[in-house]
Amino acid sequence: MSDSETMIEALRVLSQDIQSGDGVANACVADAADMIESMSAEIIKANERVRELEKRNNNQSKTIEAMEGCIAREIAKAFEKAEIPRRAKAGCIGEFKFTIEKANCCPECYHDKKDDCEICEGDTDENGLADLTATVPWDLCKDIWLRMNRIYAEELREGKYK
Ligand SMILES: [Zn+2]
Repeated sequence: MSDSETMIEALRVLSQDIQSGDGVANACVADAADMIESMSAEIIKANERVRELEKRNNNQSKTIEAMEGCIAREIAKAFEKAEIPRRAKAGCIGEFKFTIEKANCCPECYHDKKDDCEICEGDTDENGLADLTATVPWDLCKDIWLRMNRIYAEELREGKYK
C-alpha cells in the first residue's frame, strides 16, 4: 500500500471519528481524502503517459536510423541501375578528346622537314612528327559512365552497410 493510500484511509477514519457538533470538520477531512485520492489517480495517469512518451522517443531514433538506412540503400540501388541517359549521346559524342604526343608521322617530313610540305602543311617538328588529337569513342564513354556508377554504388554500400 502506498503512502497516499495509507493517508487516504487514515483521513477517512478520522472523518468518522472527529467529534464536531455541526459535522463541518468531518466533511472537510472527508473532502481532503477524496481530493488526495483523485490527485494520486491523476499522477499515476500522468506517469503512465510520460513513460509512453519516453518509450516513443527511444523508438524515434531507431526509426530515423532505419529510414536513413533505407534511403542510403535506395540511393546505392539507383547508381547500381544507372543506364545511359537518352540525351547522353547527343551531349557527349565527340566532346571528349585527348592528345597523343608525336603520334603523327609525316612520310614527307620524316628526318627532313619541309616547311612547304603538302601532306602536313608544315605542322610537324624537325623529325616530321606531330601530336595526334583523338576523340573518346561513344561506346567507351558509355562503358566509363556505367562502370563509375557501379563503383560508386559499391562505395555507398560499403560506407553504410558493412
Ligand atoms: Zn610533312
